[in-house]
Amino acid sequence: MLRKLGYSLIVAAVLMLGVGVVNAVFVSTAMATEAEEKKCDKCGDLPSKPAKDCKCACHAPKK
Ligand SMILES: [Zn+2]
Repeated sequence: MLRKLGYSLIVAAVLMLGVGVVNAVFVSTAMATEAEEKKCDKCGDLPSKPAKDCKCACHAPKK
């Protein structure tokens, strides 16, 4: 009886951990998607990830 109870608790804990991981992945994915939506209007590149040959002022190297 006690063994079954402990096993159930372990299963429940694993399930909760799994849900937490899924939530973290979902949140990080949502944030990444949100970042991708903020592309520059002039060059179409992400300010944080500009093309190598892009010289647009929106992501000019900081001096
Ligand atoms: Zn730009």
